[in-house]
Amino acid sequence: MLFVVFLVAVTSVVTGQESILAITHVNVIDGTGTPALADMTVIVQANQISQIGKSGTTSVPKAARIVDGRGKYLIPGLWDMHVHEIFGEWLPEDEKVIPLLFVANGVTGVRDMGGDLEPLKKWRARIAAGQLIGPRMIIAGPMLDGPVPQFPSSAPVKDAAAGRKIVDDLQKNGADFIKIQSLIPRDGYFAAADEAKKVGIVFAGHVPDKVRATEASNAGQKSVEHLTGVFEGCSTVEDELMAAPRGPGRGRFLSTYDPERAKALIALFAKNQTWQVPTLYWERGEWLIEQTNTGPDPLAKYAPAAWRDRIWPMFTRDIMKGWSTDPVADREKFFQAELKMVGEMNKAGVPILVGTDTAAGVRVYPGFSLHEELELLVQAGLTPMQALQASTANAAKYLGLADTGTIEKGKRADLVLLDSNPLQDIKNTRKIQSVVLAGRYFSRADLDHLLHEVEAAVAKSK
Ligand SMILES: [Zn+2]
Repeated sequence: MLFVVFLVAVTSVVTGQESILAITHVNVIDGTGTPALADMTVIVQANQISQIGKSGTTSVPKAARIVDGRGKYLIPGLWDMHVHEIFGEWLPEDEKVIPLLFVANGVTGVRDMGGDLEPLKKWRARIAAGQLIGPRMIIAGPMLDGPVPQFPSSAPVKDAAAGRKIVDDLQKNGADFIKIQSLIPRDGYFAAADEAKKVGIVFAGHVPDKVRATEASNAGQKSVEHLTGVFEGCSTVEDELMAAPRGPGRGRFLSTYDPERAKALIALFAKNQTWQVPTLYWERGEWLIEQTNTGPDPLAKYAPAAWRDRIWPMFTRDIMKGWSTDPVADREKFFQAELKMVGEMNKAGVPILVGTDTAAGVRVYPGFSLHEELELLVQAGLTPMQALQASTANAAKYLGLADTGTIEKGKRADLVLLDSNPLQDIKNTRKIQSVVLAGRYFSRADLDHLLHEVEAAVAKSK
């Protein structure tokens, strides 16, 4: 019975999308880097910001629904730039879980870094048409991996010809960009990179095991995920590390770390504007899995059976067998080195994005995890403003989308209203009072309804 009530509530939000919304007397952190602007009024009409100005001089249309923003902080809708939503048997399609968790946590845009192209295209279209509640989607489809891929939703690349063909096919079939995975062979990688440039599609992802970080950057790879290839590239024994199969060896990275090589690599990333998506929350989750995947999980009610009972335990076992056989002290130190690396990159002008690897990462929950990542980026040395921009304005810049990322007249109305100032404490991005998704207003009660809907769907999952 309760479930029916929730559905009705959400439906009424959907049908109200043509109405005018006015958020009055609010502090605006517009995403451009300007400090918070006090006592502003933001008018939203249809799916756009139609007006923004000082409350004293901005007239509020009579028909507007007024949201009193006094004492609150309005930020642009957040982008999670590394997610997986429909990912073979790992993440079976479930539109009642992942999209709603994103929206309930203020995530109004995602870059899907690998998944099943056809169902993802359907979600992308239905969300764009306002038929499905979920974040705006930029999608890769299958990931270009080695001849024997390690994950579902992968396209096996055995040679250069295969690399070119897959890029062509994906581009024709409506993928927004090309995702590179670790096992793609060198010739396949460079052919795919060349073909992507020819047909005008972005390629991004891991630095493959057989490619140097410097080579990937110079080949035009637009983003590097999880700092792949970075510590190899900073090591005095890079060749040796690249020749060996990847696995344990965090301690080796640290003992052969060369600050001069690091400086040169960071300078190259800055020069080429090779974006970094360090996914720090999942890096820590992975390296320290025996700590991060034990104890009570307050969010378990949002994890469908497929994640909780099958995929996460399986992934945990794989990680324990392989990567995490290093002594725990080495892994802890390595995570600290990753934080330091991100701080140095940021200082040197390497552009950074916020990504989480949800929902593949163990206990990396859609939406909730983005706020953990923001916090870790601040620990790494970004200012709260820089961290916020990494999830808003930088995402827009990376994606080449002029209509998102900042709160300005004419932009899409993707907004998050916070109870406290995130520039004082980045943890305040979690204090969400309401969300505007392409002009649709979700009050705190509406967001709680979405979360209850997810809980109900999860309870029925098998
Ligand atoms: Zn991923």
